[in-house]
Parts: sequence; C-alpha cells; structure tokens
Amino acid sequence: MSDHKTGGLTRREFTTLAATAAAAAAFGVFSPNQAHAQGAPVFPIPALPYPEDALEPVISAKTLSFHYGKHTKAYYDNMNKALEGKPSAGLTLEKVFMDTAKDAAAMGLFNNSAQAWNHTFYFAGLKKDGGGTPSGKLGDAIKAGFGGFEEFKKAFIEAATTQFGSGWAWLVDDGGTLKVAKTPNAMNPMVNNQKPLFTVDVWEHAYYLDYQNRRADYVKDVLEKLTNWDFVAKNLG
Ligand code: MN
Repeated sequence: MSDHKTGGLTRREFTTLAATAAAAAAFGVFSPNQAHAQGAPVFPIPALPYPEDALEPVISAKTLSFHYGKHTKAYYDNMNKALEGKPSAGLTLEKVFMDTAKDAAAMGLFNNSAQAWNHTFYFAGLKKDGGGTPSGKLGDAIKAGFGGFEEFKKAFIEAATTQFGSGWAWLVDDGGTLKVAKTPNAMNPMVNNQKPLFTVDVWEHAYYLDYQNRRADYVKDVLEKLTNWDFVAKNLG
C-alpha cells in the first residue's frame, strides 16, 4: 500500500493531544506529514487524553500511572536525547522510526521512537466506557476481513496471546483488507507496509498488576470495555 507514508503523527498533533479529550479524536485522523518546527527536534510526550483512573477496573490508575508516567516518558526522553544535534527539518515521529527501522546502528533510536509512537497510539485507542460493536464502514470492513466481529475478536486475542514475550497486537489495513498482526518489542506494522488502526500493548508492564499472567483476559476486556471504535474508524478513513 502507498498511503502509510502520509499517516504521520506529527509533533503538532501529539502536542494538540495534550489539550482536551476532543483533541484525542483529531489525533486519530492520519493527516499528511507536516514539517517539523524550527529548532531542535524534540517531541514532547503528549498528555493522556483521560484521567489516570478513567480505564478502571480493566487498567488500574496504578498501572496507567507507571505505564504513562514512567515507561512511556522514558521512551520519549531517550528518543529526544538520541535526536540531540540531528537535523530537524521535516522530521516527524513516524519518520524517525521509519528511517531507523532497518538500520542496526540506530537500533536504540528506533526502539525508543517506535515505542513512543506505539504507546501514544495505544492510549488514544482507549476510552472510558468504550467497547461495543463497530458499525458502518468499519463494521463492514471487519466483517469482510474476518467473517464477523466475534471472529475478529477471537483472531485478535489469539495474536495477542501467541506473541511470545513482549510486543503488540494490532488491527491493520493491509492493502485494503483488515487483518490482525502481532509485532515483537517495539516493531510497528508500518515497517511491513501495514497501516495501524488499533493496538493493544501486550508487554507485561501493561497488564501484570491487574491481570498477572492472564493476558487473554486483559485483551478481551480491553476489546469489550475500553476500545474507542470512533478512533479506529477515523484511522480507517
Ligand atoms: Mn507499554
């Protein structure tokens, strides 16, 4: 597919996300890349689009506090440190990780920038009292891709639980067909020419305080109680 390159989450969008929950909806629109602003290439961590206790009881405030305030912040901080002194023209967070994805010498920058993107995308895909069953174009696309919504859920949970070790489960648009994907560690489906529509973090830090080793139950509850299907639909376009 050719449109993933235009799916940039720009610094401006990430910063806008900090403002209001309404901005979180705008975050879901994959608009064309914008050139990075003047000055050093620093990507500030966007605020969560909801309070830390908004996703309870599936994701506790304690989990979200550490996941956002410690883990995600460290990815942003490490990325920004690695970008010090580099040219900033035209830089987007997406471009940072896409440009380093296949460069073994830049593995640290890739890992931190992709994790920064992945986490902000993950948080934006959740909301209080989410879940339900998507309708319209997204509902039709899920039916076409998987046979039905229950079949999609089953495939997504299976991808999440068979990702060995740390990583991510994804709903992606693969050349016009919706599929589930799983990626290890920091990897992002855009590197494989798939457009991310939704993700669930399956690193243990995402669920261990709340679900211990029950990863399948965590993913099922996220799908049924927290998924922001409006965000997913906007990503599908
Ligand atoms: Mn995480």
